[in-house]
Amino acid sequence: MEHVKIYRGNQIGGCVTVISAVSDGQIHRIMIDYGSSLPGNAAKEDFQYPWEKEPVDAVFFTHYHGDHVGRMLEIPEDIPLYMGEVARKVMINIHDALAKRPDMEEAERKKHEDALRLLKNENRILTFKPEGNHYEDINLPGFTIEPYSIDHSAYDAYMFMIEADDGERPYGRYRVLHTGDFRGHGRRGGIMLPIIDSCIHRFGSRSVDALVIEGTMMSRSKEKVKTETELMIEASRYLHKHKWAFLICSSTNLDSLASFYQAAQFSNRKYGRYMYVYSNYFMEQLDLYTNTAGNFTDIYKFKKIANLHDLDYDKAYQNEKMTVPMKVRDMMERFGFLAVIKPEDYHEKYIDMFMDAYQAGRIDEPPVLIWSMWNGYVNKYRTLENGEKIPNKAGNDAWIDFLDRQRAKGIEINMELHTSGHASVKMLTDVINAVDPQDKIYPMHTECAEDFKKLKIRAKLKDRIQ
Ligand SMILES: [Zn+2]
Repeated sequence: MEHVKIYRGNQIGGCVTVISAVSDGQIHRIMIDYGSSLPGNAAKEDFQYPWEKEPVDAVFFTHYHGDHVGRMLEIPEDIPLYMGEVARKVMINIHDALAKRPDMEEAERKKHEDALRLLKNENRILTFKPEGNHYEDINLPGFTIEPYSIDHSAYDAYMFMIEADDGERPYGRYRVLHTGDFRGHGRRGGIMLPIIDSCIHRFGSRSVDALVIEGTMMSRSKEKVKTETELMIEASRYLHKHKWAFLICSSTNLDSLASFYQAAQFSNRKYGRYMYVYSNYFMEQLDLYTNTAGNFTDIYKFKKIANLHDLDYDKAYQNEKMTVPMKVRDMMERFGFLAVIKPEDYHEKYIDMFMDAYQAGRIDEPPVLIWSMWNGYVNKYRTLENGEKIPNKAGNDAWIDFLDRQRAKGIEINMELHTSGHASVKMLTDVINAVDPQDKIYPMHTECAEDFKKLKIRAKLKDRIQ
């Protein structure tokens, strides 16, 4: 039987995997991820999974990005949902903040409140339980599922080793490794190949039949992939040169936020620099990272954090070293800052505030702006492999306008300080060769599945690509 079925695998985002097993003559199924299509994808009409006709026993989520969890509320209520504990908390923070936003439309607000209720329901949401260096196996009728924490731009992301019952196989089971979104160049990327060798292959005593692997970077193979450490070094040099810096970076990209936070500390060797963030929500996410990932390494500890919102209230602070309270704005002008903002109209006032300070001679240079998200969001065109330029459907017009406006004011925009959340072509090659799937390779989360055949992998592996 065909154990693996992938829906919408030929697009980046919104891919759904269903794995089946046969146990005591009964078919059982589990699903991995049920997310939304990303803007700009060809498949406009969202696909509907046939829940009645092909029921699933459980849904497993690899991580908290919307293209993997975005349609959680549509899953029938009797199906349990498995995810990481920190991922659950990150999502609670997100939906809580959105449900409280004053400008939220009623219908949208209700969705966020429903999502909150669901995420807090411990009968429905089951989280992976730590055991030794990894997580406990999950046994369901027909399946054993082993979750492994891996490196991605979302923190608390997983790949799954799944053994599915199949009486026709020599050892009674069909083994599927599902990578989820992953990469090798983040802080924890180095563990991927050792995990494959030790936990997946058990040092040669267990083989893998099918590999389901993401291929986001196949269409961006010309992008140079820098490591998070390289990003941190480049950012600290840049911040050393520029004392007043704004940053645009996702509130859930823990690794890059840590790179920038540390860079802000190194940029002023003795005292470091405060990182200001735009909301209480953002402060809560950073606290969560500090109290979870921060327990394993100081790199993930965010200490010198303040709320940019304090500028709106003209707030003043005083510590034991100060004889008089000092206004946040004066502190930012005097000591410099790294301030995370969103590319939205309502955050533009902060840039203007420091542009005014420059024009009034209170600071020595205009503030700079670092764009640390995928540049596909702010390009009007994209260039195909053959050099042809086509309109870029993933581009966000409001964000493009925002950046154009800042440039017009004379603000320097740095687009270089970013690294991808996805595996490089080299990493994909290494993982496929290491996993050495005996039956099939299913590329997913990619627009270029055919290009997997061009990878430097063994010839017999190329024949197994679906
Ligand atoms: Zn992702």
